Amino acid sequence: MRVGTVYLVGAGPGDPDLLTVKARRLLDEADVVLYDGLVSETIRDLPPASVDLIDVSKRGDGERTTQAEINDRMVRHATAGDDVVRLKSGDPCVFGRGGEEAEELAAAGVPFEIVPGITSAVAGASVAGIPPTHRDHASSLTVVTGHEDPTKADSALDWGALARSVTAGGTLVILMGVGRLPDNMAALRAGGVDPETPVAMIERASRADEFTVTGTLDTITDRAREVGIDPPAVTVVGDVVDVRDRVSEYLRAAGTARSAGGPVRDEPPVPTE
Ligand code: SAH
Repeated sequence: MRVGTVYLVGAGPGDPDLLTVKARRLLDEADVVLYDGLVSETIRDLPPASVDLIDVSKRGDGERTTQAEINDRMVRHATAGDDVVRLKSGDPCVFGRGGEEAEELAAAGVPFEIVPGITSAVAGASVAGIPPTHRDHASSLTVVTGHEDPTKADSALDWGALARSVTAGGTLVILMGVGRLPDNMAALRAGGVDPETPVAMIERASRADEFTVTGTLDTITDRAREVGIDPPAVTVVGDVVDVRDRVSEYLRAAGTARSAGGPVRDEPPVPTE
């Protein structure tokens, strides 16, 4: 029997217009779409009714689906002859387990393809008027997970080195960093980063209710709490954050910054969708 192909597809940060042409085509052509919880609803609504759309972020009993169950599903559908789109937010291989899933598919002998997507690690900043690099302000970009406890001795991240990259003029982008924001900001301060260094958090970048808050290493934790920043959000640390002050008015006039609300927004976000 014909074996189907699994496409590990990036859905981008949420705006359906930021899907790649290839992702959009595959969503129409797939037999099955297995999507993650972070894929935006507007994108989930795109495939035609004939496509079997399966939320693999949680099981019927409300528990999280394990990675082993997701791997098993991909292999099972493909060996039954279905073409499968495994749809992940952003890029499938940036904190998206795309690498692990590719290894599983290869081990199972299932043909697959990786379809890159626009990662929130870059687009989260840029849609809000913050260029991750800038000739005058930042010549390097570091992307990390904020999920780990920075005080843990066996942390996979060297926060001293990350602090030095910021001090040397680089931009640091933290994904999955809302919960541990205070710890991560403290770790950068302990590593010698100037407390006045600008920091921005962009929640739900590119979606209709995108929301940005800015502050400094010292103030961002309070600012984020005041305005109620919730996941998903990216945190951007570095001088590039100030570029937003100079461009955000124009971005809004152009209709591209959506509800970002200027450099600092004080009211809670108002969904417009
Ligand atoms: N593969 C994804 C990242 C998945 S990890 C990518 O390349 O974008 C999940 C984290 O991604 C979230 O905790 C958040 O930090 C970030 N994220 C994803 N979508 C986002 C969005 N629209 N706005 C802001 N952050 C987002």
